[in-house]
Amino acid sequence: SSHLGSEKEAALAADPSDGPTIFDKILWKEIPSQVVYEDEKTLAFRDISPQAPVHIIIIPKVKDGLSRLAKAEERHFKVMGHLLYAAKIIAKQEKLDDGFRIIINDGPNGCQSVYHLHIHLLGGRQMNWPPG
Ligand code: C5P
Repeated sequence: SSHLGSEKEAALAADPSDGPTIFDKILWKEIPSQVVYEDEKTLAFRDISPQAPVHIIIIPKVKDGLSRLAKAEERHFKVMGHLLYAAKIIAKQEKLDDGFRIIINDGPNGCQSVYHLHIHLLGGRQMNWPPG
């Protein structure tokens, strides 16, 4: 959880090892989440700390070593494509017809706080560039 810009602190304190994360608890329904999309390979749910009117986290159901994008290997090509395509489906479902943003945070410098690969889908407002 985060408060007053502590997302960076959470990221810098995060355990970057390949063990279970809070997202496993969401997958196993041990903690509740607002699921917006699900298929055989992916689950998508609303971010608990939304940074835009629409902020959805899309994850692979099986981590398979993908704690972060930096760990991706050829065997992950299919699931990575699947995640990105799910983002497109969900953007349409959320009526983000004027556009949206996809983000993957990697490692401490990327402000990653949960070490289970995930795509952020943000929309519903004008985004800024460059990102923070
Ligand atoms: O990319 P990063 O690892 O920083 O993103 C993790 C995201 O997961 C954060 O946006 C955080 O709000 C979200 N989260 C969540 N539910 C939890 C824990 C984290 O939606 N229980």
